[in-house]
Amino acid sequence: MNEFNLETYKKRIFKTISKYKLVEPKDKIFIGLSGGKDSGCALFFISQYLKTYKVDAEIFAFHIKLGDFIPEKVIETVKKQTEICEIELKIYDIKNYGIDYEKISKLTRPLCSSCGTIKRYLMNKISREEGATKLCTGHHGDDFIVFFMKNIIGKNIDWITKFTPYLEGKGKQLTRIRPLFFGSGEENKNFLNSIGFPYISEDICPHSLLKQKFDKRREKWYRVINQISEWQPNFKIYFLEGIIEIAKNLKEQKEPFECEVCGEPTNKRICGFCKLIKTQKDAQ
Ligand SMILES: [Zn+2]
Repeated sequence: MNEFNLETYKKRIFKTISKYKLVEPKDKIFIGLSGGKDSGCALFFISQYLKTYKVDAEIFAFHIKLGDFIPEKVIETVKKQTEICEIELKIYDIKNYGIDYEKISKLTRPLCSSCGTIKRYLMNKISREEGATKLCTGHHGDDFIVFFMKNIIGKNIDWITKFTPYLEGKGKQLTRIRPLFFGSGEENKNFLNSIGFPYISEDICPHSLLKQKFDKRREKWYRVINQISEWQPNFKIYFLEGIIEIAKNLKEQKEPFECEVCGEPTNKRICGFCKLIKTQKDAQ
């Protein structure tokens, strides 16, 4: 494993932000914070970038509260993260959008995937309704390499067009920016530890057995790409640059449909979120 260097990492992330024009003057950049290291790191770098280069853009941070089981220290951590970056924080509770987490957790469909559907849906909807020009996420390079391989295996080639640091919005789907595209989870952790930036490191999911199974599989994928990195210099960077090239050369994705129930963007007739609401109701 290469030794971690704070400045080199910052330079790499700043280079991604400038090369792919992730931030521009007059932008209203929304970022969803979970309290974890990756979204915290994305917030830190974007806000530092705006300050360093005096970009006339704004950042708005929000947290999607999944339920009352979420420990108070998650909210406290998210608050601290935004205070350090001098950014305002808003909290949205999924209860106000018709979701009952307890009910969702008892459904037969996999909970981790329901949770992902809820967060993706609300992050786009909330940000768009609040006037965002871009939605920033904490996805990092290891995520994209694994997504890429999984999509090759699943033959979902069209999805690969989404794996870029800057993904142009279509219809009601906001433009998404990923400043950590050339970063990794491990480097995010090292970076935040070195500067003493707070984040939640432990598992806060009440269904952690389920989540652990999901995480363990992901860890196995990460392990493989880290093993290759040990003998192939710059493996991840070159692989990610390759993914960007493939994404550029693939046919562009069509504009999404609008969900027949809620009007939010989807690639089906009815979006995943509305299907989840219906399953929750039917189960009562
Ligand atoms: Zn819908």
